[in-house]
Amino acid sequence: MSGVTKTVLLEFPPDQVGKPLVSRAVRGFEVEINILHARISPSEVGRMLAVVEGEEPEVEGTLDFLSSSGVRIAPPGEGLALDEELCTHCGACAGLCPTGAFTVSREDWKVALDMTRCIACGICVEACPYGAVTPGGAFGFTEAGL
Ligand code: SF4
Ligand code: SF4
Repeated sequence: MSGVTKTVLLEFPPDQVGKPLVSRAVRGFEVEINILHARISPSEVGRMLAVVEGEEPEVEGTLDFLSSSGVRIAPPGEGLALDEELCTHCGACAGLCPTGAFTVSREDWKVALDMTRCIACGICVEACPYGAVTPGGAFGFTEAGL
């Protein structure tokens, strides 16, 4: 498929999590949606990192459809911020991160954050004992109760 490729962070409100919005988007527009990572539970806010590929008007139409259905959309990498000064590399976040965005190097036992894998679930914010991870502003996800 030629055209454009957009990687987006999607937030599904609790009343939309159970609806087949992604499959409706694929059926309604000529796009492919590749879900890279997701954390979805019934009746809870769901977060997903996905790649939407297709001709530009179709991709934009897809995002407009999702947005008008109540899905919040943000660019990847805006889910949170890591304060390197506060991080002690204790590894608590890496043990809980569901997508592998936080990892521990076996060479120097330092923690690294790959924001291209982050779905802004907020688990590391809660887990960090040193307050080194803070919401990045994409969704204000601590307010979502995650
Ligand atoms: S918010 Fe934290 S725990 Fe959740 S995916 Fe991103 S880095 Fe991992
Ligand atoms: S939990 Fe906090 S202090 Fe520990 S490695 Fe992760 S970001 Fe650093």
